[in-house]
Amino acid sequence: MEHLVIACSDGRLAEPLARLLSQLGIEAADRMLVPGGPLVLVRPGMERRVAMGCLTTLVEGNGVRKVVLVSHQDCRAYERALGGLGFDQEEILARDLRRVRTLIENAFPALDVSCYLIPWRENGAGPGFGDAEPVD
Ligand SMILES: [Zn+2]
Repeated sequence: MEHLVIACSDGRLAEPLARLLSQLGIEAADRMLVPGGPLVLVRPGMERRVAMGCLTTLVEGNGVRKVVLVSHQDCRAYERALGGLGFDQEEILARDLRRVRTLIENAFPALDVSCYLIPWRENGAGPGFGDAEPVD
């Protein structure tokens, strides 16, 4: 597959993730779905090494050329890893997305990496995930 999506395994993301891929015109993509998504690539030690191993397998074995990193608000894996996410969670998520993008670009210079954040909305018809927003 030309595209690889790295996102959180949270089942509530199925719909917003499908909307994002459809918006981007991506019909089929390889997926690396793990708790926290890009979070595993900023974790220390073993976690990161395992994640980099999976990424290498997908990139070198499947001909991936573009990576789409997706993080989301109200992420339980993040809360668990960081001992809670404060009011600045959007900032933390965006910071980690940029870090992971740099990490992947350094490891695989030929890859095109983009970042998205799926926001949690308390307002509207009912609380839920909004549309993914790009992170520069
Ligand atoms: Zn999550």
